[in-house]
Amino acid sequence: MAKKTVLVVEDEIDILEILVYNLEAEGYRCYKALDGEGGLALAREKNPDLILLDLMLPGLSGTEICGRLRQDALTRDIPIIMVTAKSEESDAVVGLGLGADDYVTKPFRPKELMARVAAVIRRGANRSASQTDRIEVNGVIIDPMRHEICMGNHVLELTASEFRIVQLLASQPGRVFTREQISAKALGQPMLPSDRNVDVHVKTIRKKFEEFRYLIETVRGVGYRFTDRKAIE
Ligand code: CA
Repeated sequence: MAKKTVLVVEDEIDILEILVYNLEAEGYRCYKALDGEGGLALAREKNPDLILLDLMLPGLSGTEICGRLRQDALTRDIPIIMVTAKSEESDAVVGLGLGADDYVTKPFRPKELMARVAAVIRRGANRSASQTDRIEVNGVIIDPMRHEICMGNHVLELTASEFRIVQLLASQPGRVFTREQISAKALGQPMLPSDRNVDVHVKTIRKKFEEFRYLIETVRGVGYRFTDRKAIE
Protein backbone atom coordinates (compact mmCIF):
# COMPACT_ATOMS: atom_id res chain seq x y z
CA MET A 1 0.00 0.00 0.00
CA ALA A 2 1.23 3.49 -0.80
CA LYS A 3 2.38 5.56 2.15
CA LYS A 4 -0.10 8.02 3.56
CA THR A 5 1.02 11.60 3.05
CA VAL A 6 0.98 14.52 5.47
CA LEU A 7 1.57 18.15 4.63
CA VAL A 8 3.12 20.03 7.55
CA VAL A 9 2.76 23.83 7.49
CA GLU A 10 4.90 25.36 10.24
CA ASP A 11 7.24 28.36 10.23
CA GLU A 12 9.28 27.32 13.26
CA ILE A 13 11.88 25.07 11.79
CA ASP A 14 12.55 23.15 15.04
CA ILE A 15 8.91 22.26 15.46
CA LEU A 16 8.61 21.44 11.78
CA GLU A 17 11.50 19.00 12.06
CA ILE A 18 10.09 17.38 15.20
CA LEU A 19 6.74 16.89 13.50
CA VAL A 20 8.30 15.46 10.36
CA TYR A 21 10.61 13.20 12.37
CA ASN A 22 7.69 11.72 14.30
CA LEU A 23 5.50 11.36 11.24
CA GLU A 24 8.20 9.66 9.21
CA ALA A 25 8.92 7.31 12.11
CA GLU A 26 5.24 6.29 11.88
CA GLY A 27 5.62 5.59 8.18
CA TYR A 28 4.06 8.74 6.72
CA ARG A 29 5.53 10.61 3.82
CA CYS A 30 5.81 14.35 4.53
CA TYR A 31 5.67 17.53 2.55
CA LYS A 32 6.90 20.68 4.27
CA ALA A 33 5.87 24.30 3.95
CA LEU A 34 7.21 27.20 6.00
CA ASP A 35 4.36 29.58 5.24
CA GLY A 36 0.74 29.70 4.23
CA GLU A 37 1.19 30.43 0.54
CA GLY A 38 3.58 27.50 0.19
CA GLY A 39 1.19 25.31 2.17
CA LEU A 40 -1.77 26.15 -0.06
CA ALA A 41 0.26 25.48 -3.21
CA LEU A 42 1.50 22.12 -1.91
CA ALA A 43 -1.97 21.11 -0.75
CA ARG A 44 -3.31 21.67 -4.29
CA GLU A 45 -0.38 19.96 -5.94
CA LYS A 46 0.08 16.92 -3.68
CA ASN A 47 -3.43 16.34 -2.35
CA PRO A 48 -2.10 14.92 0.93
CA ASP A 49 -4.10 12.63 3.22
CA LEU A 50 -3.81 15.16 6.04
CA ILE A 51 -2.63 18.71 6.71
CA LEU A 52 -1.00 19.67 10.00
CA LEU A 53 -1.46 23.40 10.11
CA ASP A 54 0.23 25.80 12.49
CA LEU A 55 -2.02 28.73 13.39
CA MET A 56 0.60 31.42 13.90
CA LEU A 57 2.28 31.86 10.54
CA PRO A 58 3.80 34.89 8.84
CA GLY A 59 1.59 36.30 6.11
CA LEU A 60 -1.60 34.27 5.86
CA SER A 61 -2.83 33.09 9.24
CA GLY A 62 -3.76 29.49 9.91
CA THR A 63 -7.45 30.32 10.09
CA GLU A 64 -7.30 32.08 6.71
CA ILE A 65 -5.53 29.09 5.21
CA CYS A 66 -8.10 26.79 6.71
CA GLY A 67 -10.90 28.80 5.14
CA ARG A 68 -9.21 28.83 1.73
CA LEU A 69 -8.56 25.09 1.82
CA ARG A 70 -12.24 24.50 2.49
CA GLN A 71 -13.38 26.79 -0.32
CA ASP A 72 -11.19 25.16 -2.94
CA ALA A 73 -12.69 22.11 -4.60
CA LEU A 74 -9.21 20.57 -4.91
CA THR A 75 -8.50 20.70 -1.18
CA ARG A 76 -11.98 20.77 0.34
CA ASP A 77 -11.93 17.21 1.62
CA ILE A 78 -8.40 17.05 2.99
CA PRO A 79 -8.56 16.62 6.78
CA ILE A 80 -6.85 19.36 8.80
CA ILE A 81 -5.40 19.26 12.29
CA MET A 82 -4.45 22.67 13.62
CA VAL A 83 -1.40 23.07 15.81
CA THR A 84 -1.72 25.97 18.19
CA ALA A 85 -0.24 27.56 21.29
CA LYS A 86 -2.39 27.20 24.39
CA SER A 87 -3.02 30.97 24.34
CA GLU A 88 -4.38 30.79 20.78
CA GLU A 89 -6.98 28.19 21.59
CA SER A 90 -9.79 30.58 20.68
CA ASP A 91 -8.35 30.75 17.15
CA ALA A 92 -8.45 26.98 17.04
CA VAL A 93 -12.15 27.19 17.81
CA VAL A 94 -12.56 29.56 14.87
CA GLY A 95 -10.67 27.04 12.76
CA LEU A 96 -13.02 24.24 13.80
CA GLY A 97 -15.89 26.43 12.68
CA LEU A 98 -14.15 26.82 9.32
CA GLY A 99 -13.96 23.08 8.89
CA ALA A 100 -10.74 21.92 10.54
CA ASP A 101 -11.10 18.43 11.96
CA ASP A 102 -9.19 18.71 15.20
CA TYR A 103 -6.54 20.73 16.96
CA VAL A 104 -3.64 20.11 19.29
CA THR A 105 -1.96 22.60 21.58
CA LYS A 106 1.76 23.10 21.95
CA PRO A 107 3.67 21.67 23.64
CA PHE A 108 2.19 18.45 22.27
CA ARG A 109 3.00 14.92 23.25
CA PRO A 110 4.20 13.22 20.05
CA LYS A 111 2.44 9.98 20.94
CA GLU A 112 -0.91 11.65 21.38
CA LEU A 113 -0.44 13.74 18.26
CA MET A 114 0.34 10.61 16.22
CA ALA A 115 -2.78 8.91 17.58
CA ARG A 116 -4.83 11.90 16.46
CA VAL A 117 -3.18 11.96 13.07
CA ALA A 118 -4.03 8.30 12.57
CA ALA A 119 -7.61 8.84 13.75
CA VAL A 120 -8.22 11.84 11.50
CA ILE A 121 -6.75 10.10 8.46
CA ARG A 122 -8.94 7.08 9.14
CA ARG A 123 -12.01 9.29 9.38
CA GLY A 124 -10.99 11.10 6.21
CA ALA A 125 -10.97 7.79 4.40
CA ASN A 126 -14.46 7.11 5.72
CA ARG A 127 -15.72 10.57 5.00
CA SER A 128 -17.83 9.38 2.13
CA ALA A 129 -19.57 6.83 4.35
CA SER A 130 -23.30 7.23 4.11
CA GLN A 131 -25.49 8.83 6.75
CA THR A 132 -27.39 5.57 6.96
CA ASP A 133 -24.36 3.51 7.96
CA ARG A 134 -24.39 1.71 11.26
CA ILE A 135 -21.80 3.11 13.63
CA GLU A 136 -20.23 0.83 16.20
CA VAL A 137 -17.93 2.45 18.70
CA ASN A 138 -16.81 1.52 22.21
CA GLY A 139 -19.46 -1.20 22.47
CA VAL A 140 -22.27 1.12 21.44
CA ILE A 141 -24.20 0.49 18.24
CA ILE A 142 -25.93 3.37 16.50
CA ASP A 143 -28.30 2.19 13.83
CA PRO A 144 -29.83 5.01 11.77
CA MET A 145 -31.99 2.63 9.72
CA ARG A 146 -33.73 1.38 12.85
CA HIS A 147 -33.25 4.66 14.68
CA GLU A 148 -31.85 2.75 17.62
CA ILE A 149 -28.92 3.00 19.96
CA CYS A 150 -27.92 -0.23 21.68
CA MET A 151 -25.74 -0.21 24.74
CA GLY A 152 -24.86 -3.50 26.32
CA ASN A 153 -28.14 -5.34 26.11
CA HIS A 154 -30.57 -2.50 26.20
CA VAL A 155 -31.97 -0.23 23.52
CA LEU A 156 -32.19 3.47 24.29
CA GLU A 157 -35.18 5.60 23.52
CA LEU A 158 -34.04 8.93 22.18
CA THR A 159 -35.96 11.72 20.53
CA ALA A 160 -35.16 12.45 16.89
CA SER A 161 -33.04 15.47 17.85
CA GLU A 162 -31.13 13.55 20.49
CA PHE A 163 -30.54 10.73 18.06
CA ARG A 164 -29.14 13.04 15.41
CA ILE A 165 -26.78 14.68 17.91
CA VAL A 166 -25.40 11.30 18.99
CA GLN A 167 -25.13 10.20 15.37
CA LEU A 168 -23.21 13.35 14.44
CA LEU A 169 -20.77 13.12 17.35
CA ALA A 170 -20.22 9.37 16.98
CA SER A 171 -19.66 9.67 13.23
CA GLN A 172 -16.21 11.04 14.07
CA PRO A 173 -15.08 9.93 17.53
CA GLY A 174 -12.52 12.31 18.97
CA ARG A 175 -13.53 15.20 16.78
CA VAL A 176 -14.75 18.22 18.67
CA PHE A 177 -17.96 19.75 17.38
CA THR A 178 -18.84 23.28 18.42
CA ARG A 179 -22.35 23.99 19.67
CA GLU A 180 -22.90 25.98 16.48
CA GLN A 181 -21.96 22.98 14.35
CA ILE A 182 -24.15 20.63 16.36
CA SER A 183 -27.05 23.02 16.11
CA ALA A 184 -26.64 23.46 12.36
CA LYS A 185 -25.87 19.86 11.43
CA ALA A 186 -27.95 17.85 13.89
CA LEU A 187 -30.82 20.19 14.68
CA GLY A 188 -30.93 21.95 11.33
CA GLN A 189 -31.05 25.42 12.82
CA PRO A 190 -28.51 28.19 13.32
CA MET A 191 -27.63 28.79 16.95
CA LEU A 192 -28.89 32.01 18.44
CA PRO A 193 -26.93 33.97 21.05
CA SER A 194 -27.41 32.49 24.52
CA ASP A 195 -29.14 29.50 22.95
CA ARG A 196 -28.84 26.57 25.39
CA ASN A 197 -30.62 24.07 23.18
CA VAL A 198 -27.60 21.90 22.43
CA ASP A 199 -26.49 21.83 26.07
CA VAL A 200 -29.97 20.85 27.18
CA HIS A 201 -30.12 18.01 24.65
CA VAL A 202 -26.68 16.75 25.64
CA LYS A 203 -27.67 16.79 29.27
CA THR A 204 -30.70 14.63 28.54
CA ILE A 205 -28.69 12.29 26.35
CA ARG A 206 -26.13 11.76 29.10
CA LYS A 207 -28.88 10.99 31.56
CA LYS A 208 -30.26 8.34 29.21
CA PHE A 209 -26.77 6.95 28.58
CA GLU A 210 -26.43 6.24 32.33
CA GLU A 211 -23.14 4.39 32.87
CA PHE A 212 -22.13 5.19 29.28
CA ARG A 213 -22.41 8.94 29.91
CA TYR A 214 -18.62 9.24 29.70
CA LEU A 215 -18.88 8.63 25.95
CA ILE A 216 -19.86 12.23 25.34
CA GLU A 217 -17.14 14.55 26.55
CA THR A 218 -17.37 18.25 27.18
CA VAL A 219 -14.50 20.22 25.69
CA ARG A 220 -14.54 23.35 27.79
CA GLY A 221 -15.11 26.51 25.83
CA VAL A 222 -15.46 24.58 22.57
CA GLY A 223 -18.22 22.01 22.49
CA TYR A 224 -18.64 18.28 22.65
CA ARG A 225 -17.06 15.16 21.30
CA PHE A 226 -17.65 11.45 21.31
CA THR A 227 -14.76 9.87 23.19
CA ASP A 228 -11.95 8.19 21.32
CA ARG A 229 -10.09 7.37 24.50
CA LYS A 230 -9.53 3.81 23.37
CA ALA A 231 -7.91 4.97 20.19
CA ILE A 232 -5.39 7.11 22.07
CA GLU A 233 -4.35 4.58 24.71
CA1 CA B 1 4.28 29.46 14.17
